Amino acid sequence: MRLYSTLTRQVEELPVTDGTVRMYVCGPTVYDRIHIGNARPFIVFDALRRYLEFRGYKVIYVQNVTDIDDKIIRRAHQEGVDARTIAERYAAAYFEDLEALGVRRPTHSPRATEYVPQMIELVQELIRKGHAYVLDGDVYFSVGSFPDYGKLSRRSREEQEAGARVEVDERKRDPLDFALWKKSKPGEPHWPSPWGEGRPGWHTECVVMSRHLLGETLDIHAGGSDLVFPHHENELAQAESLTGKPFVRIWLHVGLLTVRGERMGKSVGNFEYARDVVDRYGSEPVRYFYLSRDWHKPLDFSHEGLVEAQRAVERVYDFLWANEGGSAQAGSGDLGALEKRFLDALEEDFNTPAAIGVLQEIVAWGNVARQRGDPVGAQAAAALVRKLGQALGLFQEPKPTVRGLEEELIGVLVELRAELRKRGAYDLADRVRSRLGELGIELRDGPQGTNWTVRPRT
Ligand SMILES: [Zn+2]
Repeated sequence: MRLYSTLTRQVEELPVTDGTVRMYVCGPTVYDRIHIGNARPFIVFDALRRYLEFRGYKVIYVQNVTDIDDKIIRRAHQEGVDARTIAERYAAAYFEDLEALGVRRPTHSPRATEYVPQMIELVQELIRKGHAYVLDGDVYFSVGSFPDYGKLSRRSREEQEAGARVEVDERKRDPLDFALWKKSKPGEPHWPSPWGEGRPGWHTECVVMSRHLLGETLDIHAGGSDLVFPHHENELAQAESLTGKPFVRIWLHVGLLTVRGERMGKSVGNFEYARDVVDRYGSEPVRYFYLSRDWHKPLDFSHEGLVEAQRAVERVYDFLWANEGGSAQAGSGDLGALEKRFLDALEEDFNTPAAIGVLQEIVAWGNVARQRGDPVGAQAAAALVRKLGQALGLFQEPKPTVRGLEEELIGVLVELRAELRKRGAYDLADRVRSRLGELGIELRDGPQGTNWTVRPRT
C-alpha cells in the first residue's frame, strides 16, 4: 500500500516487515465532548485500520487520552471540582461517542497520568544528552540542539513562532523552546519530580506512550492537520534526539473540518457535538460523508452534505436488502473488474472517494442486472458490496425485521391513518406518519394503498 507522508511530501510504500502495522493516532484532551470536526480523523483512521485488517495485516492501534492539561484544569476550576472528575467524565463520554460513531475501540487507550514516571525518565534523559534544560522548576526542550527541527512542518522561522504562539520568556534560550515539564501552580494537580512538584507537557506524553506500546519507530503516526505544528514537530524532535532513529515511517494528516471556510473549533464557537450530529443523521451517513471526500483536504461541514449522504446510504441499503442471499464469488467478469478497481483505489493513498464511487457502480450494475431479469447477478453484486464495505466500515447492517405483534400494530396504525385521511384529519394523519418515521418506519403511499418499510436506527 502507498500513502502520502507529510514528512517527505511524497506518496510512499508502507513498509510492513512482520505482517503487523504499528499505528499511533493522537487522541482527545478530555475536557468536553468531542465535536464533529474532532471526529473526522478518528473515522478516517478507523477506516484505514479496517482496510489494513481486511488485507490481512495485524494492526496495533494506539490512541492516547490526554487527561491532564490546562483546559481540563480550567474547566475544573469553573465547575468547582477537581481535574480528575472532569477527566473521568469526559473520557467516559469520549468512549461513548466513539461507539456512537461506529469507531472501533483502539487496541490500547493509554492515559497520560498513567505514564508520569516514564515521562520524568524521558525528560531526565533529554537533559543528560544536552537537549533540555531546567528553568526554575520548568524543563524546556532546546530546539537549537536538534538541527532537523522544522523538517516535518517545513515552516519558516516566523511561521513557527506564530504557530507555536510563543510566550515571551526572556529566560528561554530560544523563544521556540517548548515545555517538557511544567511547575505546578497552587491548586493544580501535581506530581513529584527531580525539579519539584509539577506536571508533564502534552508534547512529551505521545512520545513516551507510543514508545512504550509500539517501540522506537512507528509505522504510522496520524492525526488532524492542526497537529503538524507544533505538536508533531515537537514529538519528532524529542524522539529522534533520544534515539537517533527515525521516529515514524509515514506521517498522515487529515484536513480540518471548516464551517463556511473557517476552522471548526471550541474556541471559535462554531462547532456541533459529534453526538448530536450522529443522533440526527446516523453514524453511517457521517462516515459516508467523510469517506466520500478527499480526507487530506479541508472539508466544509454542511447539513445538506449530510442529508445527501443519508440518501446515498439509504439507496445502497434499499438495493442490498432487496437482493440478499447471493455470494460474492459468483460474480461475473464485470464484478471482478470492479472489485479490483475498488482495491486499487485504496492501495494508492487510501483513495476512499474513488473506492466509494466503485461501490456505487457495483450497486448500479446490480440494479441493471435485476432489471434485465438476472436476480443471481444482482445478488452477487449485493454480496460484493457487503464484502468490500467491510474494508471501510460501511454497509454491514442486516435488514431490520419486524414480526408478529409489532407487524400487526404497525398495520393497525397504517389503517387508522388511512381512515383519518379519508375524514380530512390530515394533521393527525401526518402526525402518525412522522412519529412512525422517528421510529424508523417509513410509509409510502401508492395507488394500491400504503406500503411500509423499516430502517435501522444506526
Ligand atoms: Zn500526540
